[in-house]
Amino acid sequence: MIHMSGKKSDLKLINGGVRLDGRKPDELREIRMEVGVLKNVQGSAYVEWGKNKVLAGVYGPREMHPKRLQNPTEATVRLTYNMAPFSVEDRKKPGPDRRSVEISKISSEALSDVVQVHLYPDAAIDVFVEVLQADAGTRCVGLTAASLALADAGIPMKDLVAACAAGKVDGEIVLDLMKEEDNFGECDLPLAIVPRTGEVVLLQQDGKLTGEEFNKAFDLAYQGCLKVYEIQKRALLAKEVRQ
Ligand code: ADP
Repeated sequence: MIHMSGKKSDLKLINGGVRLDGRKPDELREIRMEVGVLKNVQGSAYVEWGKNKVLAGVYGPREMHPKRLQNPTEATVRLTYNMAPFSVEDRKKPGPDRRSVEISKISSEALSDVVQVHLYPDAAIDVFVEVLQADAGTRCVGLTAASLALADAGIPMKDLVAACAAGKVDGEIVLDLMKEEDNFGECDLPLAIVPRTGEVVLLQQDGKLTGEEFNKAFDLAYQGCLKVYEIQKRALLAKEVRQ
């Protein structure tokens, strides 16, 4: 989506197979993950992914209030996505907007598919995702951090959720778009999967692709998710080693 003024015509995003930040088309940005970083929540994670900086914290399972929202057969998983005012170039107006409400909803649904919700009837599991710095792909970073925070809280899940986008930039299918590519590229395709089962729990497309391009972008994003999954598992192990 375009959130920045400027024209695409004078900007070449890929030069001789090299992207603006030096990456190859199928390369991820640098990713760093840390689990158990906050003391006042049951579980937490911090992820730096390129220039993105995202914190996730989990409360629960705890009794759902108000009571009328309780589900007697399973827990309700709610993710709240928030961007800090200083997370983008022009100060973002604090508080929810249409975009953050949408991201919160689709992310909540993705996590509800992996948490063993039947274990906690009447409960709420609240995940708060705070975007401290944004540079495209924050819904993927947020979900990745959120599932790490749930694991850190000891909440039983089928598996982690691993997320990563692919897209089309200067006519080429590339992995993990950064801001300039997201703004001036042709398409962004964020994907989130449950690696153990191969389920797709989130897939969005912003822009146009042919069927063939879609298949290629989907495969690339899927491979990206598997790489993210490896980093997630290492971050969880690193926390165990620390304890
Ligand atoms: P995602 O972050 O998941 O890629 P979008 O495609 O909606 O979601 O946003 C792409 C990027 O645009 C964000 O990561 C952020 O850098 C920027 N952006 C989003 N919302 C705003 C906003 N309100 N003001 C300025 N920049 C924004």
